[in-house]
Amino acid sequence: MSILTTVFFLALLVTSGVVLFRRIKFIRTAILLGKPEPRNDQKPTRWKTMGLIAFGQQKMFKRILPAFLHLLIYVAFIIINLEVLEFVIDGLTGSHRFFAPFLGSFYTIAMNIFEFLAFATLVSCVAFLVRRNITKVPRLSMNELKGWPALDANLILIIEIVLMLAILTMNATDQILAQRGVDGYRELGGLLFSTPLQPLFQGMGETALILTERTAWWFHIIGILAFAVYVTYSKHLHIFLAFPNTWYSNLQPKGKMKNMDEVTREVNLMLGLGGDNGNEPSEVSRFGAKDVNDLNWINLMNAFACTECGRCTAECPANITGKKLSPRKIMMDTRDRAEEVTKSLLAGGPGLEDGKSLLGDYITKEEINACTTCNACVEACPVNIDPLSIILELRRYTSMEENSSPAQWNNMFQNIETSFSPWKFAPTDRFRWADELKKKS
Ligand code: SF4
Ligand code: SF4
Repeated sequence: MSILTTVFFLALLVTSGVVLFRRIKFIRTAILLGKPEPRNDQKPTRWKTMGLIAFGQQKMFKRILPAFLHLLIYVAFIIINLEVLEFVIDGLTGSHRFFAPFLGSFYTIAMNIFEFLAFATLVSCVAFLVRRNITKVPRLSMNELKGWPALDANLILIIEIVLMLAILTMNATDQILAQRGVDGYRELGGLLFSTPLQPLFQGMGETALILTERTAWWFHIIGILAFAVYVTYSKHLHIFLAFPNTWYSNLQPKGKMKNMDEVTREVNLMLGLGGDNGNEPSEVSRFGAKDVNDLNWINLMNAFACTECGRCTAECPANITGKKLSPRKIMMDTRDRAEEVTKSLLAGGPGLEDGKSLLGDYITKEEINACTTCNACVEACPVNIDPLSIILELRRYTSMEENSSPAQWNNMFQNIETSFSPWKFAPTDRFRWADELKKKS
């Protein structure tokens, strides 16, 4: 490599690093729009949850074939990136296959592992493209995925296929050049997945072969750098966020709702259960959530970690029975609103004061009121995202701040307040039917 190409490579590396850093900063700002939420308890359980769910992909294995294909892509992503280290060293030093002389035959074994994973990724991505676009799995062809989300999902699969083809093409041409004794190329002694491609290039002259090999090399490294930046704009951010997201999982028993301390105190006082500790009750700025800044930072991290896989929506009884609610859309809307506010804030715009809000402009009352709070979405999510906690906060806002819950609900709320039960009669009357039974027996 000439000095010029080394400088170009360095410039490419620095530029992508700067763009990546800026984007990560943007996402961090968006997540920190949320309220603080201390969730650092039970550390051993949190590490275990992260290990099993994010690293071990435990929840993916409810469906074996897609889980296996996904696992192949995931392992390839981690391991093939080790090869990128060599690409970077070669790019900066002008060497070719920097590690080969040091690793000897182990280098060939490593290259065969990389090639196997490249091939497996290629096959998996083709299978996923078929599922999305030809067999049309219902949860992957719903309305909320129209436009950019569907394009994003397809693009990333196509990019991965092309990147993997570039690796195999590079190795095939590299080895032909080595067999012809061209300076700088070394024989690796049998690469299982690129060797069958060699006949495609055998008829080429030396210059054309070098050009093809170098083009594949540059294409692959530029593709990897572009991919690293692109991922942060796409649903594939879950590759990284799945880890903190699962660490900060909600470890409370499923179905346990989070009460507001201020409300609990008032209710306890009303019921004569104590609660007045002599301190002034703290000011509540807002009951529930109207916009993203009323949610907590974990809700917003959840939104950025969402893979848009739709497993939650496929399990949601409200969605299955034709209601407008889709927990996946709740997460996508939350992320879109957080991005909109952050963009505006960083550009010196009105931010949250833009006259819009998450509730109303993105998510409707019809959607949140359809939720049965069954937790099926939380259970189904492969990265432990909790759409229900967002729905509950939005619903708390509509009932406590706007008093705009459906009329039947308001009757129930009133009964709870006056009779301590959802019905009009007092709880003491609830077991009269049993008294009648006792008399009869
Ligand atoms: S908790 Fe609500 S959103 Fe989640 S699956 Fe149940 S009904 Fe659907
Ligand atoms: S919330 Fe979870 S299950 Fe639902 S689409 Fe996002 S990643 Fe998939």
